[in-house]
Amino acid sequence: MEITNQKSLFTICKSIETDEYHVYLSIKKADNKCYLKSKKSICGAVEKQDNEKCRNPCVTITELREVAAKIGDKMCGNCMKSIYKTKE
Ligand SMILES: [Zn+2]
Repeated sequence: MEITNQKSLFTICKSIETDEYHVYLSIKKADNKCYLKSKKSICGAVEKQDNEKCRNPCVTITELREVAAKIGDKMCGNCMKSIYKTKE
């Protein structure tokens, strides 16, 4: 999955099933609201359910890494790997 440039935006959502946080590629549309580009997380393991809560809508890769570091152990390991592969 293509997450390679610094213009990419991300949203972190918490999985109800596992209590883990996953990262979703996001996009800001003309109305300036944040939408998920895909319901699939960037690790490919989960799909966002409608009743799951998201935090930090449409953050940049730099902000995403800061937030992910704070979330720590509750972050999905594979999503973490993906966001550190992304170039700044
Ligand atoms: Zn994940």
